Amino acid sequence: MLEREKNAIARQRDIIQSILQASNEAFVLTESNGSVLFMNVHARRLMDLPGIAPNKIQERIPLLSTFRPRDRSEMLRKMDQLLDGTAREVSMRFSIPQPNDRDEEYYEMYGTTMDTKRQIGMDSGFLFVFRNRTEEERMDQIKNELVSTVSHELRTPLSSLSGYIELMLARDLTPEKRERFLKTMSREAKRLTALLNDFLDIQRMEDGHQEYKQDHFALNELVLEVIERFRETSDHTIHFDNADDDLPLVADRDRIEQVLVNLISNAIKYSPNGQEIEVRVRQDHDQAHVSIRDFGIGIPEHAFEKLFTKFYRVDNSDTRKIGGTGLGLSICKEIIESHGGSIEVESTVGKGSTFTFTLDLAEGTS
Ligand code: ADP
Repeated sequence: MLEREKNAIARQRDIIQSILQASNEAFVLTESNGSVLFMNVHARRLMDLPGIAPNKIQERIPLLSTFRPRDRSEMLRKMDQLLDGTAREVSMRFSIPQPNDRDEEYYEMYGTTMDTKRQIGMDSGFLFVFRNRTEEERMDQIKNELVSTVSHELRTPLSSLSGYIELMLARDLTPEKRERFLKTMSREAKRLTALLNDFLDIQRMEDGHQEYKQDHFALNELVLEVIERFRETSDHTIHFDNADDDLPLVADRDRIEQVLVNLISNAIKYSPNGQEIEVRVRQDHDQAHVSIRDFGIGIPEHAFEKLFTKFYRVDNSDTRKIGGTGLGLSICKEIIESHGGSIEVESTVGKGSTFTFTLDLAEGTS
């Protein structure tokens, strides 16, 4: 019985050890004088020291050169509060610079007094948990960026709108001037609506709340419809190179339309001096390929990878002049990938860009 009991205790210890080792957090368990009783792998990595490390946590912290000096002193101060009994719990946030000089790892340290008499036969000890909160910090940064981009993008059309309203209220204007002002105001109001819609779309898609309809339609017809609409309003000549046969899809028609509108309006927007746009639809086995080619400013290769992430914009004098939010392509990618397709870009600076997306055709088409 004793043997069985011993085995059971050993098994329990192994289970607890595996949980602590497998956890994402770094754990350090110490005695009441700070001597380390247990460290999991994460803690070892975090507090790695060459040679023989002091056994007391408060002696180890000052030697950790990866931590910033001011973080080390604050951490020591907090640990002392625990060790001398002034506090039963302490916590602090800090970050560790990484070798590449750009990213940082963000942590939260949490220390607590443990009453361990019953469990391990010593009066009291301390548990220190180091939680890696880099991902949360990254999300916070994205949110902050989002708030500042959105407010900046909202401010420009809003101040232009209110400027025109003031003008119209204050002055007697000729009917021609009135009309010109109203047209500008209407354009600005549309820009505001489009921005808010993009913004809400990407939020909904990322939250996983976007539902896609399963419409049956011919891709070629939709492409042509969108092109005709652009032909009415744009100075660019849009060529359409159609596939030989109709390409039937089962997909959310409105959303695929949104992708086409985004890609064609980008092609127009980013080719201020190029007059031609080429849209090509092809069937390749059981897939449809749609490519939109322009002869505009092009995109540098280093930007390809980030192009489809939200808020990313190539930063140069041309794109700054053109303006935008960096949401359009991330919405396109989200929509296409949710339909099981893919989207990619080829481009040469100064020569132009081609965006191609691929979708599966309705079954039984090939
Ligand atoms: P936005 O146009 O609002 O900035 P997008 O997500 O549609 O946002 O595009 C992201 C970035 O990709 C743009 O800021 C621009 O730098 C680049 N880009 C997109 N389409 C083109 C294109 N056809 N030609 C050149 N650059 C483009």
